Amino acid sequence: MAKKQFKAESKRLLDLMINSIYTHKEIFLRELISNASDAIDKLLYLSLTDSGTGLSRSDFYIRIEPDREKRVLKLSDNGIGMNKEDLESNLGVIARSGSLQFKSDMEQAKEQEDIDIIGQFGVGFYSAFMVSDKITVISRKYGDEEGWKWQSSGADGYTIVPCEKETQGTEIIMEIKPDTDGEDYSRFLNENSLAALVKKYSDYIRYPVQMEMEHSRNKNAGQADAEPEWETYREVDTLNSMVPIWQRNKSEVTEEDLNQFYKEKFFDFEDPLKTIRVDAEGLISYKALLFIPAKASYDYYTKEYKKGLQLYSSGVLIMDRCEELVPEHFRFVRGVVDSPDISLNISREMLQQTRHLTAIASNIEKKIQGELEKIMGSDREAYEKFWQAFGLQLKYGVMADFGAHKDKLKDLLLFPSSAGEKLTSLAEYVGRMKEDQKSIYYATGENIQMIASLPQTEYIREKGYEILYFTDEVDEFVAQALMAYDGKPIQSISRADADLKTDEEKKEIEKQAEENKDLLGFAADVLKGRVKEARISGKLRSQPVCLTAEGPLSFEMEKYLKQVQPE
Ligand code: ADP
Ligand code: MG
Repeated sequence: MAKKQFKAESKRLLDLMINSIYTHKEIFLRELISNASDAIDKLLYLSLTDSGTGLSRSDFYIRIEPDREKRVLKLSDNGIGMNKEDLESNLGVIARSGSLQFKSDMEQAKEQEDIDIIGQFGVGFYSAFMVSDKITVISRKYGDEEGWKWQSSGADGYTIVPCEKETQGTEIIMEIKPDTDGEDYSRFLNENSLAALVKKYSDYIRYPVQMEMEHSRNKNAGQADAEPEWETYREVDTLNSMVPIWQRNKSEVTEEDLNQFYKEKFFDFEDPLKTIRVDAEGLISYKALLFIPAKASYDYYTKEYKKGLQLYSSGVLIMDRCEELVPEHFRFVRGVVDSPDISLNISREMLQQTRHLTAIASNIEKKIQGELEKIMGSDREAYEKFWQAFGLQLKYGVMADFGAHKDKLKDLLLFPSSAGEKLTSLAEYVGRMKEDQKSIYYATGENIQMIASLPQTEYIREKGYEILYFTDEVDEFVAQALMAYDGKPIQSISRADADLKTDEEKKEIEKQAEENKDLLGFAADVLKGRVKEARISGKLRSQPVCLTAEGPLSFEMEKYLKQVQPE
């Protein structure tokens, strides 16, 4: 029988799959299961719209059957199936809608990075050639009397012949490659590895993915004084949990369920501080389950930590850490996003995908921001706990990208202040400002006690003005990035002279300087080389002297910059 040739672009892709250096060959299983699930969706849809099928949701399944001896892996479904034309057009041509775009993408796909994209999104049916030498597809379309057998060993083409098949649906029979070149293909014939792969990639497929597995049981269970006697037996297991927690009704899911899910999925021992559920419908539909951890993980402020959310498309895992979904300043947020609008197949429209991701990301950013503001307003204790863990991250966020995010973040900041024990937000500070007070003042130092005893602060507190205490090295940079809040400049007390002194005070200081010329000259002499000049200050109250920085940098900032700058 003459072999039919694949269309040119399919051939290229096939070559790539067969000779794939892509390390995640295991994704082929996810691809085939998702196809099976799509096929069932189609038939179920028919059943719901056309009562003639007599089928209901619970009749459907996807089955995996490994045969170690024959090195054959079979995957079957009882979905809609394919007739001859379907087989020709679906398996003979890859990625119909976006094939040209895809082809040109592939031409450039020489970099490892691009190959990773293939793995993340998958290229569908053809990925099975990464692990198989030969593939047979036996299918019977719903409503047809006969079945068809499609067969291919890869690049040299395929054959289609009629064949027997008892029920509607599709069987994919893969002759798994021998273990060569250090690649362990046998794991795709091992029940436990297969079960683990289903759990990893296809846990939330809406139909049962089943496989017969070996179990053992104690024959004497229940008999108190009998020695345990073990026997093995085989049983069909459903490998996937089918309904993801984020797809369930809000009323069915308890807080405990969500906390449990979070801890298992993201390896935390503690309940999250906050869980955010998003159910967005409209131009782009998606469901998200976001978690704000209660504590920063041990590696959070290191390079080891990777941000990102899990991305699913209708229950199929596409990416474990999709970085694009969370902004850098909220990188502590963990969670999952599931959107039917993100297609599994990048060959469709890559650009469209990117646009969808960006839209979801900006939506998610707003949700997180809103939620944090809400916690700050309604549960200050919880917010302060959050601040302990991730405040530094938000401060970095204010400074990042030349202050591009500062307006979103400025109301989430907290600082200690002279007003009392509690941390204050900038809005709260402004609410307490004196009528004649023009600026927001801050003082820097190693700790609160040290700042509070700075000679310069007395003078400002005397006026009844509050001072923010900056104890974090980055605080001053944050202030510089913000510049002002609510129209009030944020100023260091050491540089606050100009707007605090009245003309009279200035005159008085000039007069005193003139009178004490000799004393000042003496002080400058003694401290020569260590101070630039000695002068009369109007700021001092109970203390005789203070040190003041000249120029735009405070002492603290200078100290910091010296630390970080190379010699
Ligand atoms: P995609 O799933 O993105 O369309 P694939 O390469 O995975 O791309 O599959 C190509 C097409 O082959 C599917 O769109 C579908 O029409 C058909 N197909 C694949 N597997 C099955 C199956 N198990 N049952 C019915 N049709 C299938
Ligand atoms: Mg597919």
